[in-house]
Amino acid sequence: MLRLDKLQKSFGGFHAVQGVSLDVAEGELVTLLGPSGCGKSTTLRCIAGLEDPTGGEIWLGNNCVYSGARRLNLPPEGRRIGMVFQSYALWPHMTVAENVAYPLLRQKISKSERETRAIQALEMVSLTNAKDSSPGRLSGGQQQRVALARALASQCQILLFDEPLSNLDVRLREQLRGEIRDLQRRLGITAIYVTHDQSEALAISDRIVVMNKGKIVQVDGPDALYTRPRTQFAARFLGSVNLLPATHIAGSTSDNLARYRTTSGVIASAPAHVKEHVSGEMQFGVRAELIRLLETADSLPPDFNVWPVTVQERVFLGEGMEYTLVTEDGQQLIAKVPPYVRLEPGTRAHAAIAAQDCFVITD
Ligand code: ATP
Repeated sequence: MLRLDKLQKSFGGFHAVQGVSLDVAEGELVTLLGPSGCGKSTTLRCIAGLEDPTGGEIWLGNNCVYSGARRLNLPPEGRRIGMVFQSYALWPHMTVAENVAYPLLRQKISKSERETRAIQALEMVSLTNAKDSSPGRLSGGQQQRVALARALASQCQILLFDEPLSNLDVRLREQLRGEIRDLQRRLGITAIYVTHDQSEALAISDRIVVMNKGKIVQVDGPDALYTRPRTQFAARFLGSVNLLPATHIAGSTSDNLARYRTTSGVIASAPAHVKEHVSGEMQFGVRAELIRLLETADSLPPDFNVWPVTVQERVFLGEGMEYTLVTEDGQQLIAKVPPYVRLEPGTRAHAAIAAQDCFVITD
């Protein structure tokens, strides 16, 4: 449905997007995730035709809408794309229904068809009751729903979302992201969603594109990206991670785990992947959220990696407890555990994690 081929965008000498290639299938919701300034919005704006790329190609279905080599660049109205922005961009002097129908007027669609489509789109976002209201009387969440209805009414091929929930409070953000995902799935819409919020990306995406400095770092499903990040950047950007210096000591055995020497000489295992059987220093990845903190390690199954530690500090986070632990050779480990795990600073304990939940990073 969408193909980006070595897309580039420079502002003067600054390369904001540097050779981004991506295929998005029909009905997929793909998120562009990365820190501020990594080129997410610029990529999205190039897809929409709001920004002129400086190289590469953009395809929508079978149509090439931008090609640097062929000097082809369709304007936004030639692209059948709907866009939902962080600012709702509603016209205050029009009613909700008029706001939703207005872009259809520019597409020269008849009045009755415009009204029908506006009502249908408002039904999809459960806002038919507000059709005659002024947008200014609605809450932020409702206004963003109107903006979504406006994008849906134009029956576009692809919906683009640029940080649509950033202006809303946490609860509303969580509610609305669920609604967007439901609607997108129900209608089979293809969507590209830009956010810098990792939990939002994990919650709504079929696939996540992690970006840094104008380039793609990794593209994967939420689960794969969390459990098997391929770079330190991806590992640190999603969730909370401990990266321990490690060396590979034994290849895959019958249990399909590879062994590594890590901090304090502890031999730890992780799922074996051919690429990781290389010599030299690497990082052994241990998710803080997946560590079990135990006074004794006696009852653990054999496929657990265990580090003897001393509790240095603990912070109560409400939904959990964050412990700073120190291994026998002075390496810090962060563990996020349920709030009922109460160990005093100075206590000797064991940090344990299932080998299956660990990963290794070689670059
Ligand atoms: P944010 O969430 O902060 O917007 P982003 O990943 O979406 O981050 P972009 O808005 O795509 O980042 O910007 C990427 C880089 O390009 C930034 O360094 C930004 O300053 C720069 N940039 C964006 N638009 C322009 C412009 N019109 N002129 C010059 N530089 C720009």
